[in-house]
Amino acid sequence: MKKEVNTVIIGAGICGLSVAHFLSKKRSDFLILEASNLPGGIIQTKIENDFICENGPNTVLLNNDAIEEIIKDYNLWEELQFPKDTSNKNRFVLHKNKLTKIPLNPISFIFSPLFSFMSKIRILREPFIKSHQKNTSVFEFVKKRFGKEFHDQLIEPFITGIYAGNTRKMSAEHTLKLLWKLEQSHGSIIRGVLKSKKDKKSKINSFNFPKGLSQLTSKIAESMGDKLILNNKVQQIIKSDNGYEIISESGKILCKEIICSVPAYSLRNFIDNRSLIAELDKIIYSPVDVFHFGFEKKNIQNKKQGFGVLTKPSDDKSYLGILFNSRIFDYVSPEGKELFTVLVGGERQKHLCEMNPIKLKELILEELEDLLGHKGETIIDNHYRWSKGIPQFNLNHSDLLKAIENFKNSNSNFHLIGNYFNGVSVSDCIQKSRELVKIIN
Ligand SMILES: Cc1cc2nc3c(=O)[nH]c(=O)nc-3n(C[C@H](O)[C@H](O)[C@H](O)COP(=O)(O)OP(=O)(O)OC[C@H]3O[C@@H](n4cnc5c(N)ncnc54)[C@H](O)[C@@H]3O)c2cc1C
Repeated sequence: MKKEVNTVIIGAGICGLSVAHFLSKKRSDFLILEASNLPGGIIQTKIENDFICENGPNTVLLNNDAIEEIIKDYNLWEELQFPKDTSNKNRFVLHKNKLTKIPLNPISFIFSPLFSFMSKIRILREPFIKSHQKNTSVFEFVKKRFGKEFHDQLIEPFITGIYAGNTRKMSAEHTLKLLWKLEQSHGSIIRGVLKSKKDKKSKINSFNFPKGLSQLTSKIAESMGDKLILNNKVQQIIKSDNGYEIISESGKILCKEIICSVPAYSLRNFIDNRSLIAELDKIIYSPVDVFHFGFEKKNIQNKKQGFGVLTKPSDDKSYLGILFNSRIFDYVSPEGKELFTVLVGGERQKHLCEMNPIKLKELILEELEDLLGHKGETIIDNHYRWSKGIPQFNLNHSDLLKAIENFKNSNSNFHLIGNYFNGVSVSDCIQKSRELVKIIN
């Protein structure tokens, strides 16, 4: 027998779950179909031997009303955990093989060993450099405005930390949205920052929860009850006069409206729109391998408090970055123990994400010895491979946005949402979900 429902949400990652949550405030005539046996998508907390490990995001920005609303709706506001001050203030890049603080204010910038004297002077020219007439790569954009050294020493490691991408291919307009807008509206990033600092209310923080980020996705999933159907992969969608027929692993569902939150490489399998499929196929998802290492605190020589360290290609390391989890949040490791998360691969070193994980782990642990000075056995050493990890907003991104717009215009009540065009951060996913629900009936 065919089921009938008004709306079907496909995918129960943070986008699909947030859409479901905001929609449930308006009406209840929907179902959520999820392919895997767990909700949350990329948000995956694993608790092992009392170490709280995140396979996906580790911290989320508290930077918009939608995220505040959803946290409060699930009574998680009081549970929010913020990074320790010492970790927020001390974010490192590797420089000459040493942990070197990223300058967070003009004074520390002047004294930073990361930049040459010429480079520091070069930055003062930024307000006088003409703004871009058309989009360019992140590399070209930063080089033109602040100089190559600034790109190599700071922006490249930073972008690697978020996107695991290649700055020479990434679109400045879509990846560095805020900086691009500041340049376009004020003619200079420095002028724009000074102006917007005057208008800013307060500092933006990031957060996690005592039992990890899955606390939020599990609560949303629980609240959906039997509206959420797991182990139910969507295989085909057929357009009909009255709406859509969805063919999934468990049968057929007729609906009037679809909200599809699956990744691009999945969506392309069940839509009938050649130009959108062609653009979805061009999206590069950077692979990322994630390792969690737990140690006895006494066995770690390096005691520097901080958030973590990012690397650049010239450092010649096999890792993109290391998060000092137990120095960010005390509670993520048991008393007397330390937890580190190591991110490997990305566009820069894709081949590592094809390596045998046991060999890769040995390589990483050996390289970490230089930096952490760890002795003795690891207490935990988890590994998770994201073969298709983070979607890149490359120079052809505008073509994708156009194809999505055309798709929307020719498929009424078939809405798309997802990190591959809405923004990769969890906070963007939640904000865009609320915006979408606002415009549908
Ligand atoms: C290693 C890593 C670290 C990250 N770190 C951070 C961070 O620190 N902070 C931050 O803000 N962001 C971070 N991100 C990005 C962020 O986690 C993601 O962009 C976000 O979680 C994506 O959510 P989503 O709902 O769009 O997609 P997903 O989480 O991918 O959810 C899509 C869902 O659709 C389901 N699905 C797929 N195909 C089908 C089908 N045919 N039928 C039914 N269901 C289907 C999938 O099983 C999945 O559950 C990180 C990402 C990675 C990979």
